[in-house]
Amino acid sequence: MQVDAIKSLKTGVANVFLIEGSSLELLEKTLKNFKKLKPTIEKTMEMEHVKGKKGESIKIIDPLTYIFSLGESDKITEDTYREVASKVSSRLKKDKIEEANIIANIDFSKTITEGLILGDYSFGKYITKEKENKFNVEYAHILSGKPKDIELGSIVADAQIFSRNLVNEPGCVINPITLSQIAKEECEKVGLKVHIYDEKWIQEQGMNGLWMVGKGSETPPRFIHIVYKPKKAKKNAKKIAIVGKGLTFDSGGLNIKTGDYMRTMKLDKSGACNTIAIMRAIAKLEPPSEVHGFIGAAENMPDGKSYRPDDIIIFRNGKTAEIDNTDAEGRVTLADVLSYASEQNPDVIIDMATLTGACVVALGEFTAGLFANDDDLASTLFNTSKNTGEKLWRLPIDDENLREKIKSPVADIKNTGGRYGGAITAAMFLQEFVKDGIKWAHLDIAGPAFTEKEYKYYSKGGTGFGVRTLIEYILT
Ligand SMILES: [Zn+2]
Repeated sequence: MQVDAIKSLKTGVANVFLIEGSSLELLEKTLKNFKKLKPTIEKTMEMEHVKGKKGESIKIIDPLTYIFSLGESDKITEDTYREVASKVSSRLKKDKIEEANIIANIDFSKTITEGLILGDYSFGKYITKEKENKFNVEYAHILSGKPKDIELGSIVADAQIFSRNLVNEPGCVINPITLSQIAKEECEKVGLKVHIYDEKWIQEQGMNGLWMVGKGSETPPRFIHIVYKPKKAKKNAKKIAIVGKGLTFDSGGLNIKTGDYMRTMKLDKSGACNTIAIMRAIAKLEPPSEVHGFIGAAENMPDGKSYRPDDIIIFRNGKTAEIDNTDAEGRVTLADVLSYASEQNPDVIIDMATLTGACVVALGEFTAGLFANDDDLASTLFNTSKNTGEKLWRLPIDDENLREKIKSPVADIKNTGGRYGGAITAAMFLQEFVKDGIKWAHLDIAGPAFTEKEYKYYSKGGTGFGVRTLIEYILT
C-alpha cells in the first residue's frame, strides 16, 4: 500500500474519518456538504448502535464515507491510531476500495501509516484461490500528514511485514542456508555489508553450541553478521548489536516435541527474521549509531548425528554446559552468538528470542519478557515499547537462589533449570556469555512473536513483534 500526504481531499475516492468518541466535529470542519449529510450519519450511527467505542464504524454510501471511532478521547494513545487504522485497511480491502482519503484530528501520520500497512497484510502466498482474487488497497492519502512521518511509518511497517513474511515461510523453504542467502541478498540490496560463515568456520571458531545444535540437520548451521556503519561517523555515537535466535525449525531434537508442541515451530526463527528486517530498515533510516546484526541459524532435528542429553559443550568463550534437554537449544546457539557479539565491543547488545514457554505462562501471549543487566537500558526499552504498542514487562535476573538451578555437577552450568522460573533461568544462562561491562537486554518473544488468532493489527502467523521497538530504540 502506498501512503502519502495531501493538503485537500481527493475527489472521487472514499473518505475515511478517524473520530474521537462519536464527535462529528472533524467532519464538520472538513466536509463542505456536512449539513446535508448530518441527518444520514446520525441515523446510521443510531441504527448500527455506534456509541463511540474504539473500533466501531459506519459506512455511508453516497458520498462513500467511512467513520471509525478511536474511542473516548482520554483513552486514546499512539497505539489506538495504529490499531484503528489497521481496521480501516482491512475494511477497505473487504469492500474492494482501492483508494481513500484518511482524515484524522491530530497528526499521528506515522502511526496511522503503520496501522494502514499492517492491517492490509495477510500471508496468502500459497493459497492459489486467494492469489486469483487477491485485492490490495493501493493508495491511502492522509490529509495534512507530514511526508517525513509517513515515510518513517512506511519503512517501519514494511520492516515488520518483511519479518512476518519470512517467519511465515515453512521449514521446507527456510533452512539455515536459505535464511543466510536471503539475509545476504536483501541486506546487500540496501547497501549493507553481510558476512555469511559456514559450518567449517563455525567449528574453527569454537562455536560448539551453534554447531552441536545444528549438526543433526541435513542442512548445516550458518552464522550471519550484518553490518551498518553510518556514512558520517559521529563522535560518541553508540555501537549497537542486535542478536536474533534463528532456529529455522525446532523439532526438539532427541527430546522430540509431541505433535501439538511441534506445530508452529517454524516461528522459532522470529528473532532472526526481526534482525534482518531491522537491519534493512536501519540502512534506509541512516541513524548515527553503528549497528551490527548477528544470527546463529540452525535447525534442531533428531538424527544419528544429533547432540544428546548428557553431552557437555565447550563454548567459544571457554565456559562449559551440560545438556539436560535438547529442546532447550535456543540458549545453546545464542551462547556463542552473544560471545561473538561481545568480542566486537558494542556499547549495547539486545537479543530477541522465542526462548521459553515459561515466559508465555508468566506473561501471556501478548507481552514479551524483558531482562537486562542495566536499569537504564531496561527503562529506555520499556518506555519505547509504550509508544510502539509492543508490550514488554521486566523480569528479574538477580535471584541467586534461582541461579543455583542451572548449576551442573559435571560442567559450569546446564541448559535447563526446571519448570519454576524457566524464563529467568534461561536468561541467566544467556547472561553467562555476555562480556562484563556491556549493557545487555534480552527479549523473550515466545508469546507475541506468533499468533493463531487475529488481534489488533496482527493477522494469523508471524507478527514481527519487536521490530518497531528496536528500530525506535536505535533511532533515539
Ligand atoms: Zn526447543
